[in-house]
Amino acid sequence: MQTIRGFRDILPEKICLWQKVEKEAKQLFEAFGFKEIRIPILEKTQLFARSIGEVTDIVEKEMYTFADRKGDKLTLRPEATASIVRSYIQHKMYATDPIRKFFMIGPMFRRERPQKGRYRQFYQIDAEIFGVESALIDSLLIFLLNELFKRLGLTGLTAHINSLGCPECRPSFQKALLKFIESKKDRLCENCIRRMDKNPLRILDCKVPDCKKALVDAPATLDHLCRGCEDHFNTVKSTLEKQKVDFIVDKSLVRGLDYYTRTAWEIQTTTLGAQSAVAGGGRYDGLVKELGGPQTPAIGFAIGFDRLVEVMEQIDKAPEPHPLDLFIVALGDEAIEKGYHWSCELNQADIRTEMDFRGKSLKALMKRANKLAARYVLIAGENELTQNAVILRNMNTKEQVSLHLETLIPELIKIFKK
Ligand code: ATP
Ligand code: MG
Repeated sequence: MQTIRGFRDILPEKICLWQKVEKEAKQLFEAFGFKEIRIPILEKTQLFARSIGEVTDIVEKEMYTFADRKGDKLTLRPEATASIVRSYIQHKMYATDPIRKFFMIGPMFRRERPQKGRYRQFYQIDAEIFGVESALIDSLLIFLLNELFKRLGLTGLTAHINSLGCPECRPSFQKALLKFIESKKDRLCENCIRRMDKNPLRILDCKVPDCKKALVDAPATLDHLCRGCEDHFNTVKSTLEKQKVDFIVDKSLVRGLDYYTRTAWEIQTTTLGAQSAVAGGGRYDGLVKELGGPQTPAIGFAIGFDRLVEVMEQIDKAPEPHPLDLFIVALGDEAIEKGYHWSCELNQADIRTEMDFRGKSLKALMKRANKLAARYVLIAGENELTQNAVILRNMNTKEQVSLHLETLIPELIKIFKK
């Protein structure tokens, strides 16, 4: 049996970097006042269709959707924002405290063509802030991402930022866009043509090279911002400048989801080939209301965890796994039974102890101790036990001492807790 296409195991040999990222991210979220939220992996299809948008790549072709036994249409979550918004509304969080900061880490599912940095089950680290309209919150999230990447030792990442405007500035932009698209109609793919009437903004997100070429001079939302959106974007930029966060204003950045308003951004790397976006985010001031809650400004980002780990692998060899403190070489049944109790007591005291239960020879057990890179070996043979003693060998210095059975555990704890 094999995993299904685009799904993969993250094996223990590879887990160190994942854990390092998770630890740093959680510490940072904690410091910035984010609370962890855990949301279901399965939701009603309608939730994603309505929030992400019917005419988007995700909803049109990437979702894992199926009918359950009663015929309800369900979807494996392709992203986290929609579910977190649903949760915010469902639990009426706006009533007790509208200002909320959440983070979550977990798998997402999109049926895309698998390749390096692109999987059908992938992981995201997601953060959302509800209830704050201030542009300072936009800078804060980009600053937080920047700080996380700095702590992970990553360089060569750039924030590309743009403003997508709001319902007030959209109509003038859409008019200009449609006029432009009309003039390039013969150079666009079928998919773009189909989207002209339904969702022209999505054409700007088309990945077909010929379409991209045809659209280089397309009108940008940035040139159609209303006064409010312009002020908002200026504050984001000037704040990031003051905080010395590197960014590039990228007029062509539109992001693949419909719910974004005002600030949108992507953190891009030059080291992952085509899969250049390591994180993406944006403001979605209309979504809470759209999904049935009160008007609530909100904003969030998602980090592509798999891609982030791939960037780290290029610069950072995975940290060495924690070495084993002690390997118990137990010779004979009596020693194995005693060794079992010692190893449990030492594990209880957070000392990494292992032993082998198969009744192997001294030579085979010493070989295994070496393989596990044990710092110390405790040798319990029949001879030693008749004298109520065991031998502790330092595998580095090869020094050996004899330890008395009565005081064995406290002696060992003293040695390892030093
Ligand atoms: P892309 O343009 O690469 O498809 P996206 O805009 O669809 O990305 P978002 O919805 O913004 O992606 O998700 C945020 C991040 O999640 C992305 O920047 C990326 O790092 C990661 N991501 C998205 N899809 C995948 C995938 N199929 N496999 C691995 N990581 C992914
Ligand atoms: Mg995508």
